[in-house]
Amino acid sequence: MNDATTNSGWFERATKVIPGGVNSPVRSFSAVGGVPFTVTHGTGPWVFDVEGRRYLDLVQSYGAVLLGHAHPLVTEALQKAVARGTSFGMPTVGEVQLAEAICARVPGCEQVRLVSSGTEAVMTAIRLARGVTGRDRLVKFDGCYHGHSDGLLAGGGSGVATLGLPGSAGVPRGTVADTEVVPYNVVPEIGSEVACVIVEPVAANMNLVPPKPGFLAGLRRACDEAGALLIFDEVITGFRVGSGGVSTASGVTPDLWCFGKVIGGGLPVGAIGGRREVLSNLAPSGPVYQAGTLSGNPLATAAGKAVLDHVGDGDYARLSAAAATFGRDLETSIGAAGLPARVSCFGPLVGLLIGSPGRDVAEPVDYETVRSVTRADAYRTFFHAMLRRGVVLPPGPYEVLFPGFAHGPDELALVVSAAGEAAAEVVAGWSGAPPPGR
Ligand SMILES: *Cc1c(COP(=O)(O)O)cnc(C)c1O
Repeated sequence: MNDATTNSGWFERATKVIPGGVNSPVRSFSAVGGVPFTVTHGTGPWVFDVEGRRYLDLVQSYGAVLLGHAHPLVTEALQKAVARGTSFGMPTVGEVQLAEAICARVPGCEQVRLVSSGTEAVMTAIRLARGVTGRDRLVKFDGCYHGHSDGLLAGGGSGVATLGLPGSAGVPRGTVADTEVVPYNVVPEIGSEVACVIVEPVAANMNLVPPKPGFLAGLRRACDEAGALLIFDEVITGFRVGSGGVSTASGVTPDLWCFGKVIGGGLPVGAIGGRREVLSNLAPSGPVYQAGTLSGNPLATAAGKAVLDHVGDGDYARLSAAAATFGRDLETSIGAAGLPARVSCFGPLVGLLIGSPGRDVAEPVDYETVRSVTRADAYRTFFHAMLRRGVVLPPGPYEVLFPGFAHGPDELALVVSAAGEAAAEVVAGWSGAPPPGR
C-alpha cells in the first residue's frame, strides 16, 4: 500500500527508491526496531509527521540546528539569500562574512576554507596535515566519529557504533593501514611518522564522553614533541558548547579545526580552520589540493551567519545551565522508576546512558566503558516508550541529546516526566509484568 497519509506508506515508498529508506544510516530504526516516521515540517523544538503527529525533538538534525526548526531569523536570512541566487562558482560576500565570523570567535583560527560537510572538512584537514608534515600516519580515538571518508571509519562512533560495524566494507586495507585507533582519554605515544592526531575534544558520537582533565593538554604536548599536528574535530562542539568551541573553553589550541553542523544553520556546510601559515598550504596558494562546486554556498553561509550573530556568551551560559538542570532531572526521574541511568552534560550536550536494572551505570571514560554499560534492548524499549509519549530521541544509544535555544523549561519538563514513565515500562518489561499502557 502506498498510502500518502501514513508513515508506513511513506517509508515503503522510501525503501523502494532509497537504500534502507534513509539517506543516512543514523536515521534508520534498525537499532530500535519499527519504522521511522516521515517528517513534513518542524517549528522550534517540534517536528511533525505525515500523520499529523507532533514530537518534541531532541535530535535537532544531530546538532546542526541550534535555534530550533524554522527560526524566523534563519528563515529570513535564507529568503533574502535565495532571491539573490543560489550558487555562482565565484567569490561571494556571504562566504567572506561567515569566514570572518568564525575567525573572530575562535582564538588562533586565522583562516578557514569552507566546504559542504563535516566529512569533507575532516578529509581536507587530514590531507593538509599530511601535506604539511610530509608524513602519512594518523592517530584517531576509538568511538570518535569523523565523517564517512575511507581512512576514518575505523573505530568510528555514531552510526558505525550503533550498527556494530568495525569500519566498513569497501574500504581498501591500504587506506586504513596508516590509521591508528587508540582509546579515548589516554594520551598515546606519538611516533615520528605521525602526521596528525585527530580528536573530538568532547566525544559526542559514542554517547557523551568528556575529556579527563589534562587529556587535551597532554595531546597538545605529545604532538608538539613529535612534530605532529593536532586536529580538533569540533563539527558537533563548535559554536554549540560556546562561542567558539572546546578549544576556547579548554584553553588548548589545536593546529587545525574542523567545523560543520551549527555553522551552516541547518544547511550543508563544513570548514577547516587554522593558522594562516598552515592553511596557506591549500590550493591555490599551496600544494594541497581541495575544491568544491558548492563550497561556501550562499544559502548555507547566510543561514550560518544568522545563527552565529544571534548567540553570544551569555546565551550559551544560559543554555548550558538549562541543560545541566535538565540532565539532573532526567537522571532522577529515570532512576526513581528503578532504572539505573547516568546523564552526563558538557555545556548543552546531554548524554543519556540507560543501564540494566540492579547495576550502577559507571561513568564513561572511553568507548569500551560506554559499550559495557549500554543495554541495547533497554534503549529500544525506552526509545519507543518516549516516542509514544511524543518525544523523539536519536534511534540509537550512542548519540547525544541536543536541547537547544528553542527548548523552554516546559518542554524539558515534559521530557523529564515522559522519561519517568518510559523507564517504568522498561523495568516492568524486565520483571516480566506486562508494560503499562500497551
Ligand atoms: C557529524 C560529524 C562529522 C561529519 O559531518 P557530516 O556533515 O555529517 O559529514 C564529523 N565529525 C563529527 C565530530 C561529527 O559529529
